[in-house]
Amino acid sequence: MQIENYDVVVVGFGNAAQAAAFSAHSAGARVLVLEKAPPAKRGGNTSYSYGAQFRHVHNGIADVKPLLPHISEKEWEKIDLAAYTKDDFYADMMRVTRGKAVPELAELLVNESYPTVKWMQESGIQWEILYSAAVPDGERFRWHHGSSFIHSKDGGFGLVQMWQRVLERQGIEIRFGTAAVRLLTDEKARVCGLVAQNSDGLVEIHCKGVVLASGGFQANPAMRAQFLGSGWDLGKVRGSRYDTGDGIQMALEIGAQPFGHWGGSHATPIDADAGDYEAGFLDPANRRHRTHRYGWTLGIMVNTEGRRFIDEGEDFNAYTYAKTGAEIIKQPGSVAYQIFDAKLKEAIDRYLYQGATPIVANSIRDLAEQLEINPDVLVQTVEQFNEAVVEDRPFNEVIRDGRATQGIYPPKTNWAQKIDTPPYTAYAVASGLTFTYGGLKINTSCQVLNRLDQPIAGLYAAGELTGGFFYYNYPSGSGLMRGAVTGRIAGQNAAS
Ligand SMILES: Cc1cc2nc3c(=O)[nH]c(=O)nc-3n(C[C@H](O)[C@H](O)[C@H](O)COP(=O)(O)OP(=O)(O)OC[C@H]3O[C@@H](n4cnc5c(N)ncnc54)[C@H](O)[C@@H]3O)c2cc1C
Repeated sequence: MQIENYDVVVVGFGNAAQAAAFSAHSAGARVLVLEKAPPAKRGGNTSYSYGAQFRHVHNGIADVKPLLPHISEKEWEKIDLAAYTKDDFYADMMRVTRGKAVPELAELLVNESYPTVKWMQESGIQWEILYSAAVPDGERFRWHHGSSFIHSKDGGFGLVQMWQRVLERQGIEIRFGTAAVRLLTDEKARVCGLVAQNSDGLVEIHCKGVVLASGGFQANPAMRAQFLGSGWDLGKVRGSRYDTGDGIQMALEIGAQPFGHWGGSHATPIDADAGDYEAGFLDPANRRHRTHRYGWTLGIMVNTEGRRFIDEGEDFNAYTYAKTGAEIIKQPGSVAYQIFDAKLKEAIDRYLYQGATPIVANSIRDLAEQLEINPDVLVQTVEQFNEAVVEDRPFNEVIRDGRATQGIYPPKTNWAQKIDTPPYTAYAVASGLTFTYGGLKINTSCQVLNRLDQPIAGLYAAGELTGGFFYYNYPSGSGLMRGAVTGRIAGQNAAS
């Protein structure tokens, strides 16, 4: 077998891998990047992250200004942005993960978030203001406390392209259509290289450090059924078809420790017409017509039997969207319907239901007939819901308004308004699996740990395949942030 030599080999070509490659190169290493996908499909889940929002700590406008040097003073004057402190981010991580996130890893993510977005900007990544998360207030724009403020220019695919330009400018070698298949260890159990496969066959690559950044196992139906459970093998995957858990499996084969919430995943409501893979878009070939359907917090959501099944107003969707897909997959046929009335039209337009096929009717009974739901059941669900709405305070979608229902189950805790103004509109939604939470155990140097909790020399991990950050749920904008933070650290340490 052909043998080659590098200092650091990075497995993958998403945000985590690209950050690791640049970081390792900056620390003086000769770096090789392996991407399993062909060039047109490069970049893993990162390239499908159309929102590409990054959650980071800041003290308000003074901190975000240096990240966005091209924004004019006139534009800044229209922006209302409250500080998002380390305590806020840490509390959000602990709240949504039910206290299960590993404190050291959550702290790493929180503490390194701002230095890392600054490092990315200085490295050549351009940020933009995430206006899609803002609520317009006259001439001004306001962000919910805790919603992300920046995204990478031209979304996730733009991020992959910007990183690629950064790597190419540094002369870092990238091989597409080349998959890592096996790790090599020496007699002291140190990782000393890997075997890769391309269309010509196998090649052995020797190196001092390997960074695994090859994503979760969401595109592997066998692993989905085994670890997420029955029904998940048939679900839709929002991102790359190449994230099949290879890095996780290769590491487990040489004694790495499985860690984190292996039965948990990030899965969101998406358009029921999306395909089985690359389901983030209705037209994935052209990356057009995003499929996210995140306006349900304002209306109600029912299953094919016409019954509500979650508290739609539990919290802002940024804190509930990632767990709502799992509730939809449990429903009959794994399908649900989001229902709104005419009062919500302007708000739903803002949620960008591009390309969706709305079902519209002038009565709930007609709507039910078009949805092939038992009309008596849907009419009763809506009547019971309307009777339960307590109209003691104004509806306000910018805050958790506490406008709730009383006496029904499940309740609606915020943003409860009667569904009483025709025309009524329904959107069919399915569960879209974004990424899996279980993975490899790492320490804060991003070294992979063995089953004795000791670092495996020469082996680092970054991004989606690291366990211990997310359990049950996830605060929006943390996946890319985790990838950049861990990639930067893993690359630097692999180089040294
Ligand atoms: C539709 C959608 C929207 C999203 N929006 C956001 C958002 O706004 N904000 C946010 O924070 N997160 C978002 N996410 C989640 C985010 O995309 C991921 O958390 C993040 O991109 C993971 O980065 P990564 O580098 O770890 O993995 P990936 O980007 O998935 O990269 C994995 C790479 O490894 C490669 N690979 C796999 N196996 C091998 C192998 N054997 N050998 C070599 N290469 C291999 C893949 O081809 C790919 O290049 C979104 C995801 C989707 C799908």
